[in-house]
Amino acid sequence: MELTGIGVGSQAAVGNVFILRTSDEVFEHRKTTHTPDEEASILGTAIATTAATVREESATADATAQEILDALLIILEDPELQEMAKVHLDEGDDAPTGLFKALDEFAELMGDDEDFQSRVGDLRGIAARISAWTRGLAAGPGIPEKGAWVIVAEDLTPLETSQFGDSVVGVITELGGPTSHTAIICRALGIPALVSAHGAMSLEQDTSVLVDPEGNRAVVGGDISSATTAISFIPQADAPLITVRANIGGLADAEKASETSARGVGLFRTEVLYLSVTTMPSVEEQTALYTDVLKAAPAGKIIIRTIDAGSDKPVPFLDLPEEENPALGVRGFRLAEGHREFQQSQLRAIAEAIEATGRDVGVMAPMVSTVTEVRDFTALCDEAGITQVGIMIETPAIVPVMPDLQGLVSFVSIGTNDLSQYLFAADRMHPRLGALNDPWQPGLLRTVRSIAEAARGLEIPVGVCGESAANPLLSIVFAGLGISSVSVARSAVDDVSTALSAIDTGAAEKAARVALQASTPGEAEAAVRALFS
Ligand code: PEP
Ligand code: MG
Repeated sequence: MELTGIGVGSQAAVGNVFILRTSDEVFEHRKTTHTPDEEASILGTAIATTAATVREESATADATAQEILDALLIILEDPELQEMAKVHLDEGDDAPTGLFKALDEFAELMGDDEDFQSRVGDLRGIAARISAWTRGLAAGPGIPEKGAWVIVAEDLTPLETSQFGDSVVGVITELGGPTSHTAIICRALGIPALVSAHGAMSLEQDTSVLVDPEGNRAVVGGDISSATTAISFIPQADAPLITVRANIGGLADAEKASETSARGVGLFRTEVLYLSVTTMPSVEEQTALYTDVLKAAPAGKIIIRTIDAGSDKPVPFLDLPEEENPALGVRGFRLAEGHREFQQSQLRAIAEAIEATGRDVGVMAPMVSTVTEVRDFTALCDEAGITQVGIMIETPAIVPVMPDLQGLVSFVSIGTNDLSQYLFAADRMHPRLGALNDPWQPGLLRTVRSIAEAARGLEIPVGVCGESAANPLLSIVFAGLGISSVSVARSAVDDVSTALSAIDTGAAEKAARVALQASTPGEAEAAVRALFS
């Protein structure tokens, strides 16, 4: 039996299927023989113990998982949640039952708050761990520590991926796309995955399966020798054809990126610093954070992106309103209008950190779609004393007006994750729309070509910092389209650098040409792969 989907990573793996499902006993509603006070104390201890474990897992997780886990901890440790559970304990429920009921009520109270609703699944996951702990059942997903396992699930939450140990060699999910949480985490952890694999949940526990990400497939009983071989690039030059930088979310990422061959940072997602902050930090506090990151970042240029909150990234102190359509709402630079004081303080802090460290830094705004917004941003940067100013190209509307940016920006960077979601009108996190967010989509590649041409007209550098650039073959296509730098997760920096050191301009341009001729993502990928196989 063979499943097809979207491969993540380049190394194949063989392991036994481990279906991730939690025992029904964990979710049972039960009465207790203890007093309500005894159950309240059990619940308090269970929450504290579980929160401590989640905190430990968060410390070693990547920035994206960290931000999600930290947001979950804020809700889990909210005294109001325990107060709500107490009402049920007083009625004779045991601690887990009280917690499950309180979570249901909490979820109802939050109504349509999409940020909260998107966390509810993870919160139930935490409640399940608390229940397992108090009821003496197998805790968590119970992945054996020994052996080689391929985790099979509908989709994975940050809580689940944060529990992966060395025995997890692969992942197959029924849902999810190339920019889904599962894909981003597996890429960061270096675990091969197949996402959007229809039929995954029909795999049987314990059967041996080959995860073949290069072949975009998984094969039951498949042998590692039958895996599609990753193209082995042999470096021909000392340096990649275009600059390869790292994406970071904070100090720990900056330090780890310094251990790779990254030449600087192409995307510092600053919102990660603010995700669990409940009051607006002072300029001094922010300056200290930016100074530490700038000192630790790999040698080379550093591109800092101003806060990109809203949509899927809640920042408590900004008090963001509920949105009917958060991805189309007040997010990215649109926040600057209502939070001018904060935007000014962030830019001032960045300027002071640049001054203190002497690093070569560009600052860019996320999610801009008009020339007016660009003017506004450059005025704010001027006021703060920042000289290298750029924008992200993430909305289709900014592409045709790029010629009007002459003299306003000194660089641009393409965020293919958002650009795909807005070009195709397909939520980048939607578990069923992975194929539309495939970065080999001709609609995306041809738009990248237009952006590169517009940047050439402006005589400014253009980077790509979305997940797409982490694919070595696509990084070559981008180089051939005239992109001047890519910025990728640190786990992908060395592979992308090697691929870009193995080719010359002629080969990159040929790859771009064949990719642009294709009418489907599959044809584009196959045509480029054929050039290097
Ligand atoms: C992007 O949209 O491609 C991007 C790099 O920004 P983020 O993933 O943080 O939205
Ligand atoms: Mg983006």
